[in-house]
Order: sequence, then structure tokens, then C-alpha cells
Amino acid sequence: MPTISLTDRVEALLAGPAVLPIVAAGDPVLRRPAEPFDGQLSEPLLARLIEAMRATMHAAPGVGLAAPQVGVALRLAVIEDAAGVPEEVRAARGRVPLPFRVLVNPAYEDAGGGQVAFYEGCLSVPGYQAVVARHERVRLRAQDERGRAVDEEIGGWPARIVQHETDHLDGTLYLDRAETRSLSSTLTQEAVERWAQPTAHLAARELGFRMPDSD
Ligand code: ZN
Repeated sequence: MPTISLTDRVEALLAGPAVLPIVAAGDPVLRRPAEPFDGQLSEPLLARLIEAMRATMHAAPGVGLAAPQVGVALRLAVIEDAAGVPEEVRAARGRVPLPFRVLVNPAYEDAGGGQVAFYEGCLSVPGYQAVVARHERVRLRAQDERGRAVDEEIGGWPARIVQHETDHLDGTLYLDRAETRSLSSTLTQEAVERWAQPTAHLAARELGFRMPDSD
């Protein structure tokens, strides 16, 4: 099979529908570490890819999308969260609005806030959600879409989104870190509402899994 360059593959992807097809779990591209971005795409092509990823994230709808989820194995992700949730949910989860931003070559480390566990889902694992314990605060190091260095501390729900998307770039899915007994369908409104409480403590009792703050 002839080798197709990354540029040609991205051009072909962007020649298709404006909302890109999302790769589902089981595709090896979601399980390989993505390649660091180092100018493999021209600036205009990178800008078009980012715009298409943004449109795809909005259409899903989702609060983050990593390039491997559209079949592009580069360390690149987009995140944005309008955080349109009830006040009690916002308070419990630290779900504050997160303006649109691009993460290039992101990496994170624990910034010392302990672990917090909540339900989360993934556009590449449709129909399910599960509880994942994650760092409450992380130090994010990355570049933005213009190559400027990013080094900042992030907490609350934005920290969860950063961890989820960065994990994608290492070939890790949220299910790898999840409490598997918490796994719940999101296919019906009834199922979604069952575990829509601000925290996952009731689900932990009913389904039989541990929360990081319970002993
Ligand atoms: Zn995901």
C-alpha cells in the first residue's frame, strides 16, 4: 500500500463533510500514542483542522475533542465548555465555563488538590458513562495553536477535561481509569436522569463502587 502523507490525509478529511466522523472505541488510532506536533501540517491546514474539530465538537455536542478521535494521530485537542448546568451541579463539580482553546502537545501533572470522582463520558464511547477519579487540580504544560508556551494550573471540571483529552493523546480512554461497576447507559432519558445528581455518592452506594473520599 502506498504511504499517504499526513498532509494528504488531513486534506482528504477536510474535503468531506464539515462535521467530521468521530472514530469509535476499537479503532487502533485511539490506542496508539499520538505523534508530537512539530509543524507536520502547514499553518493554514492546521487552522482548518482546528476549525473542523471545533465544529465537530459543537455538533456532537461535547466539551473536548482530541485529534485521534477524528483519525489524526497528532498531539492536538480542542476544548470548550459553556457549562450550562444547574447551580448545584456547578458548585459540586467545579463546572465553570471554559472558553474555547486549543491544546498542542499537552501534558499534565497532579497539582496537589487530591482526587475527585464524577461521571464522565466520551464521544468515542457513545451510549455510556462511568465514574472516573481524577486530579482535582493539574499543572498543564502545552503550546497554543500559534506555538506559544502554556504553563498554568487548572482546577475543577476544566482540569477533568484537560486530563481526559490529554489521555486520548497517550492512547488512554476514560474507561481505562473508570470504576467499572459505575458503568451506566446514557441511551434513554431515564438512564441519564438516574445518575444526574451533583455527585456520584448515591450511584456508589447503589452500584457498589468506592469514591476517593469514602472509607
Ligand atoms: Zn473522549
